[in-house]
Amino acid sequence: MPTQPETLQFEAETKQLLDLMIHSLYTEKEIFLRELVSNASDALDKLRFSALTDSSLLPSGEELQIRIDADPDRRILTIRDNGIGMTREEVISNIGSIARSGTQEMLEELGKSKDTKETLEMIGRFGVGFYSAFMVADVVELETQKAGTAESTLWKSNADGTYSVAPGERRSQGTTVMLHLKPSDTDAGLADYTNDWTISSVVKRYSNYIAYPIRQRVQRPRKDEDDEAIIGPDGKTAFEDRTLNSMKPIWTRPESDVTDKQYAEFYKHIAGDWRDPSLHLRFKAEGASEYESVLFIPSEARGDLMLYGAEYGLQLYARRVMVMDRCEEVLPQFLRFVRGVVDSSDIPLNISRQTLQENRHLTGIRKFVGRKVLDALAKLQREDADKYRTVWGKFGSVIKEGISTDPQHKARIVPLLLFESSNDPKELTGLKDYVDRMKPDQTSIYYITGESRAIVANSPVIEAFIKKEYEVLFLTDQIDEFLVDRLKDFDGKPLRSVAKGDLDIDSGDAAKAAKEERQTQQQRLTSLFRKLEEHLEESVKQVRLSSRLTTSPACLTVDEDDMSPQMERILRTQAPDMAQPRQKRILEINGSHDVVRELHRRFERDSDDPAIADYAELLYGYATLAEGTEIKNPGPFNRALEGLMVRAARGTGDRPGDGPQPEAARA
Ligand code: ADP
Repeated sequence: MPTQPETLQFEAETKQLLDLMIHSLYTEKEIFLRELVSNASDALDKLRFSALTDSSLLPSGEELQIRIDADPDRRILTIRDNGIGMTREEVISNIGSIARSGTQEMLEELGKSKDTKETLEMIGRFGVGFYSAFMVADVVELETQKAGTAESTLWKSNADGTYSVAPGERRSQGTTVMLHLKPSDTDAGLADYTNDWTISSVVKRYSNYIAYPIRQRVQRPRKDEDDEAIIGPDGKTAFEDRTLNSMKPIWTRPESDVTDKQYAEFYKHIAGDWRDPSLHLRFKAEGASEYESVLFIPSEARGDLMLYGAEYGLQLYARRVMVMDRCEEVLPQFLRFVRGVVDSSDIPLNISRQTLQENRHLTGIRKFVGRKVLDALAKLQREDADKYRTVWGKFGSVIKEGISTDPQHKARIVPLLLFESSNDPKELTGLKDYVDRMKPDQTSIYYITGESRAIVANSPVIEAFIKKEYEVLFLTDQIDEFLVDRLKDFDGKPLRSVAKGDLDIDSGDAAKAAKEERQTQQQRLTSLFRKLEEHLEESVKQVRLSSRLTTSPACLTVDEDDMSPQMERILRTQAPDMAQPRQKRILEINGSHDVVRELHRRFERDSDDPAIADYAELLYGYATLAEGTEIKNPGPFNRALEGLMVRAARGTGDRPGDGPQPEAARA
């Protein structure tokens, strides 16, 4: 190990961040203290956690604590902890580079933002960790010793793009951050951070919930001869340690005593987020299993929300002591966006990942946590529909997973579901509202799945439903395919895909008339359909008369038990190994459409008319494109279309076979 100071370069991103800090016009520079205290608290958590298996790591004869000391004459502010500390390598990798994901994210956001005001605000909201020290100090020193080792390291930088590391003099575990403060300048938001009152008010504002004492040594007049404080050299003053924070964990304080701002600060501390949460909830269980909890729903989804294997969980405490940072066992996976703490009286301090899984309390907690979060969402939906809508927009896709994965929560999730629908171009609808709007003769809840609202809303298969003013749910989220598969019905009404099976939506007298009309058409068109089937043998399993279409000539459907085209698409992209060759579809034809009538006339005149092959391709291609699927083999369709365009341009639309010949005819 080198014994001489070594000068190293900051990583490019770190340098960028430092420059930002040094030149920051952000006025609430006091957040640097929140960040440094938060780091110290994390270091103490880590130590306490490691000490569960090796108690020799704990400092001997000393309480775990954070100390803030000021030297007004030398303008030095020191933040000291006796936590886990860092090795030389850790200092270089943690402090020389950007460890936290939030910071990387912030730099990306900053890159996008043009507005300086916005930039400034972002610094404050993000909380940029250790580097925020450079908003108030021009030189920062960090001296640290890792618990269980004997060497300490001194890190120092004046933020000029380099830093030095050298052996330190510290002889006990933990970390001291020493700030050489810039001159105070109230106009630039630079208060005097050596002032006792300033320090204590900043700590109270941001760090009151920290679970370790944050102590400050203050000077006061000596009381009398028996004064037990440390007496100053003049004999008249006394020094005394004052604890600045309440230390009462937020989840143990009466709910009404904690302000929204305090909840928000706590959330930011545990979630590493710079935004306020959108919702917090508190609950407590007493009885066979005892625990208290504070949970948060963030305002934005993290980038890894939809990734398989993304880390999630709640902080697990055993009687006020954190035993695990991301405990998955206490949070249903479909609520993996939730952050917070569960503090249990029933789990042992030395719980490990393995024993965790066998702990019966945790299963109970997970179920209860699931219920409470879903209840809180239901309450939000009742009381603030707009806010609920926003939360749903961020996390709805994940919540939907619960319908398949957690049947015991299904009854609570169903009322939370929101979908796009033909009822309104913007507003989402819940199933209950859908049912309330159902027409008297309507027996099912109809839906269509597809890639986007633009595609499904223009799909020919919904025409007859829209004409009858039956509402159709537009299910455009990939998970929806799996959702409807599990959901099956709501309020006694089956959920039915408008694109599946042989639908007959007419009822009463209208149904009778429509049925007769269809029978006549069916008889008339059967031979034409067989001819079209011959031409489309490769791609279509049946050509039949449709009851779904009103204005379009054709659409594609599948049998009731077949996979929907959207499901096929999902499998092809997500699980290519499982994807089958594309299934053959049913081509449904609108018997009343002009094109079909004309085509039928041609067919009657000459059943071998070459135009019929062209029209078969065109109808099939039309129906394929309408549902947002690509045409697998575009050649025949394009040639048929080209032929049609040529004839139309020449004004000779009634003379078939003028255009390029279909492949089969040319061969
Ligand atoms: P964050 O705390 O969000 O990870 P920081 O830039 O504040 O980001 O700190 C970077 C890393 O440096 C921390 O993750 C931690 O590993 C280490 N660190 C910072 N302060 C301390 C400290 N007081 N004790 C031990 N490690 C620390």
